Amino acid sequence: MSQYWSSTVSRLTPYTPGEQPQHQRLIKLNTNENPYPPSPRAVEAMGRELGASLRLYPNPDSTPLKAAIARRHGLTPAHVFVGNGSDEVLAHAFCALLKHELPLLFPDISYSFYPTYCKLYDIDYRTVPLADDFSLDIDDYLGPCGGIIFPNPNAPTGRLLALDAVERLLAAQPQRVVVVDEAYIDFGGDSAISLVERYPNLLVVQTLSKSRSLAGLRVGFAVGHPALIDALERVKNSFNSYPLDRMAIVGATAAIEDEEHFDSTRRAVMASRDTLTAGLEALGFEVLPSAANFVFARHPGHDAATLAAALRSEGIIVRHFNAPRIAQFLRITVGTDAECQALLESLRARLG
Ligand code: PMP
Repeated sequence: MSQYWSSTVSRLTPYTPGEQPQHQRLIKLNTNENPYPPSPRAVEAMGRELGASLRLYPNPDSTPLKAAIARRHGLTPAHVFVGNGSDEVLAHAFCALLKHELPLLFPDISYSFYPTYCKLYDIDYRTVPLADDFSLDIDDYLGPCGGIIFPNPNAPTGRLLALDAVERLLAAQPQRVVVVDEAYIDFGGDSAISLVERYPNLLVVQTLSKSRSLAGLRVGFAVGHPALIDALERVKNSFNSYPLDRMAIVGATAAIEDEEHFDSTRRAVMASRDTLTAGLEALGFEVLPSAANFVFARHPGHDAATLAAALRSEGIIVRHFNAPRIAQFLRITVGTDAECQALLESLRARLG
């Protein structure tokens, strides 16, 4: 039978999402969700919305949410773009801002969606090797290129690039768009959003999936110069892609405004990360310094795939990437203290 799809489509190797088992009895430490519930104010706001107005279409511009994000960062709504998860925001950024005759640069070990988007939008790219300790060296990104994107903290390593290094890169590449994917920034880093007014080439992408415990709601956003935001809006409106739904707009707005819940949740995760790191190190693991809500760890005497399979047989799921350079690592989401202790117990029993 002949193929009905185009050669572009047959070249695609779609991103494989992390596993989402649908039964509850597992300890799920594989896709970096927050183990704590979202803001009660967000839950109440969504409850009210559910009772009131699902009959009506949502606000096509997510105006209240953009206003809340802008207020929090001392910017205007014209600096803010919102989408259905930061994955959608990133898709629009690749399409609108990162296609160029020179290759886009990103680290060889980073978010595995980036090559997928490059193939989808026919963007030429070059991956830049991280150092042996998985740190990112800004000097590798100062030459000619079509644009730059990297997660900060990086995923799946958790390593943070300091804000002054990000600024040095922005200053050195004024003609190129630099996208900083800050999905995990709230767990210990300083956001580059503070640089947006000084660097019109900067787009910062964040999500409510991690530090705001709203992965299921699908809300992400970008902050940047209004000209960059305008480009994203043009792509979004050309696709006629879906605006956020009514629940997402009210829930995300309330979550952004609940500073107290945000702060206590992220502090709890960071404290558990320290305990988990110490526990893994006591078992002989090498753990990379993490500024995220996960740790990246390897055991010199044990195969990572085997360990992941053993944990799974006990109902604990962690992430193993069968990829060059990182095949001996496990990426472990920071769960509640009880979940982290269960993981450590299970590893202790196996490692002796
Ligand atoms: N960027 C990075 C680096 C991520 O790890 C993730 C989560 N898988 C995302 C973006 C997308 O998150 P979401 O679509 O839930 O906002």
